Amino acid sequence: MPRIAYVDGVYRPHAEAAVHIEDRGYQFADGVYEVIAIRGGKLVDEELHLVRLRRSLMELRIEGALADAPLKFVLREVIRRNAVVDGIVYLQISRGIAPRDHAFPKAARPILVVTARRTRPVNPTQVDEGVSVITIPDIRWQRCDIKTISLVANVLGKQQAREAGAYEAWMVDGEGHITEGTSTNAWIVTADNQIVSRGADHHILDGVTRQALIALLRRGGYNFVERPFTVTEAKAAREAFLTSTTSDLLPVTSIDGQPVANGAPGLLTQKLRADYLAHVAESA
Ligand code: PLP
Repeated sequence: MPRIAYVDGVYRPHAEAAVHIEDRGYQFADGVYEVIAIRGGKLVDEELHLVRLRRSLMELRIEGALADAPLKFVLREVIRRNAVVDGIVYLQISRGIAPRDHAFPKAARPILVVTARRTRPVNPTQVDEGVSVITIPDIRWQRCDIKTISLVANVLGKQQAREAGAYEAWMVDGEGHITEGTSTNAWIVTADNQIVSRGADHHILDGVTRQALIALLRRGGYNFVERPFTVTEAKAAREAFLTSTTSDLLPVTSIDGQPVANGAPGLLTQKLRADYLAHVAESA
């Protein structure tokens, strides 16, 4: 069955789908995106993703994008046409097509692209043994809270992780605090079992997985705090883990080649992973 993509109002074979060379997403990375998990044919935490999408559009002052109801229809149609039961749907909205000029074009209208694909379940070895991260300087701009398609610093960071044989790179700000991973949020559990996530300031993307987990933590009465934490603190942590739409919740068992605690996934991490997966199963 051929893959189908949606590009600006038209469903097209994926291999032929294309945007104009003067699309501002292509030329300036002037656009936003979302990746939503599909489980059992349903979209996981769709509302949270759409709220974040609207916020990203507002922050970049992109006006006139498709409203939620028709957008939801397109997402479902792309999922249906690609027969995706478990996978992801990707959506991207650029400011539109216009002769190249940095300032906003007067006449352009937003261009929506949607694709969907099946994904393999998270690798069981990564769940059982945890994954490794390296730490690298955070060289990104100061509005990482906006989910823009401008991801080149994240691309370089992830590649550095790959070349170091690590799953992820945790980025570190000028004060020595970990901001987040290149495509995941970073968490630690302290020696006194406090679960710590950096607050959703301008230096991290407020992950939907993070938001959903925080809601579970609050409901479950866990000892949870939002505050910055340093690399030193992370390396001395009892447990560490990461979250994202595509990785869900994975234990981090090594930071810069040093084992976290005894180097095995933490018990609390495993419990939270189970809680999060139950939430996913419920919402799907
Ligand atoms: N942080 C960054 C920089 C990301 O790119 C992502 C996901 O792509 C996340 C965090 C996790 O966000 P979510 O849980 O919404 O997938």
